[in-house]
Amino acid sequence: MTTFNEVARLYSALSEEIKQKHPCLQGWKITWNTRLKNAMGRAVRASDGTKKIELSTKIIALNLNTPDFLSKIKDTIIHEWAHALDWEQYKGWGHGPTWRKCMLSFGFIPERCFDSNLWLTHPNKAEYVIRNRSTGRIWKYLDRYPDANALTKAHHWHRFMLMRPAHEDLELIHLESGKSRILE
Ligand SMILES: [Zn+2]
Repeated sequence: MTTFNEVARLYSALSEEIKQKHPCLQGWKITWNTRLKNAMGRAVRASDGTKKIELSTKIIALNLNTPDFLSKIKDTIIHEWAHALDWEQYKGWGHGPTWRKCMLSFGFIPERCFDSNLWLTHPNKAEYVIRNRSTGRIWKYLDRYPDANALTKAHHWHRFMLMRPAHEDLELIHLESGKSRILE
């Protein structure tokens, strides 16, 4: 399991490194957003001129158990800094060709979003999620506690759709609290 401190250390070290390589980014700050629920991070240009990269404390807390989470959060941090660099160098804002160029200059393959099937968010109305605990792969977000029918379907997905032995655990996670339990 990744700890919040490891994420915080990576966030500041990586951001410092990027700002040193690209002095045009000196005006950008890094911060934490405690309300952001539908994304791991974002780049913000506020109307008062503030420019910042934000990471969501909620979504990170929810994903600390996700396999290989530290490398996933690294992708997010780079993705958001590419938005900042895109703005400073090209006045670009989005996932267009200039943003892709910025991703490449960081040494990253530009993907618009990284696989949203492999880490958790908290979509509106969703209460629970069921996923494979070993791979982090998500079956489905649910707006209520799963009934017997949903559980049968989840197990079916787990055993047959993945073509994997069932020794990998299927887990049910309550999104608000982050509490999880293994589905036997
Ligand atoms: Zn983006």
